[in-house]
Amino acid sequence: MNNLLNFLSNTSDEAQIFLFSGILFVCWNIETIAGLTLGYKRWNHASLNAKFILSNIPIQFLLGFAFTKVIQYTGNHQFGLLYHLPYMNNKLILFIASFILLDLGEFIYHVLMHKFKRLWMFHVVHHTDNIVDVSTTLREHPGENIIRNLMTLAWIFLGGVVFWALLLRQLIQIVSNIFSHINYRLPEKLDKIVGCVFITPNLHHVHHHFQQPYTDCNYGDVLSIWDRLFGTFKRLPFKDVLYGVDTYMDKKENSNYFYLLKIPFGKYKKRS
Ligand SMILES: [Zn+2]
Ligand SMILES: [Zn+2]
Repeated sequence: MNNLLNFLSNTSDEAQIFLFSGILFVCWNIETIAGLTLGYKRWNHASLNAKFILSNIPIQFLLGFAFTKVIQYTGNHQFGLLYHLPYMNNKLILFIASFILLDLGEFIYHVLMHKFKRLWMFHVVHHTDNIVDVSTTLREHPGENIIRNLMTLAWIFLGGVVFWALLLRQLIQIVSNIFSHINYRLPEKLDKIVGCVFITPNLHHVHHHFQQPYTDCNYGDVLSIWDRLFGTFKRLPFKDVLYGVDTYMDKKENSNYFYLLKIPFGKYKKRS
């Protein structure tokens, strides 16, 4: 266990990029074989969403330095919630507690992005995708990328999350986020079981439905328990889901990278 954690700590960036590419490749092939939404230009769609990586990777690397500093500080000063809970000398319990805490943080972050006008204008870029597939995972405005990382940084500071637990959780998060956007759905019975605890494609697709109240539901990142707990859990059959968001339904505009970059700095469009 310690060897694995040391290995992961020393290769954190490479491990994340390797896993990200591997899962993307596997999911892309699942979509090729069993994709639900058909008749669109997959490569064109993916190349637009991939443009967001160009701006987001440098941000990720720059903020990686801040993450290291914050975790060093909390470690040196034993600062943060997790340092004050019992049984945290057990690595498994510490990891589960860290995982739940970080997932709750992502849930709160996602709700805030939907509820505050200016934050929504950054997050809406993710929702403007009229087709949801694995490439939609990449569609995040650089401004949102900064906001998300800063909020995670604050959450890690308050929680006292250690580096290896954060990294392990991030690896699980990568798999979960890509899979939840896949252009494929789990069979209903399996989804009922997995969806009790985890966000599945079936559940996240509902979050990408163009109209309320569905856009404001299933906020969960890896775990679906928060939506059940806070009353934002919803299901919608695939045949009833229409991807996008009612205020930005122009497909031509939604496939223009520079138009999307400008959305947060324009006029707020009230949702119905
Ligand atoms: Zn959202
Ligand atoms: Zn999404």
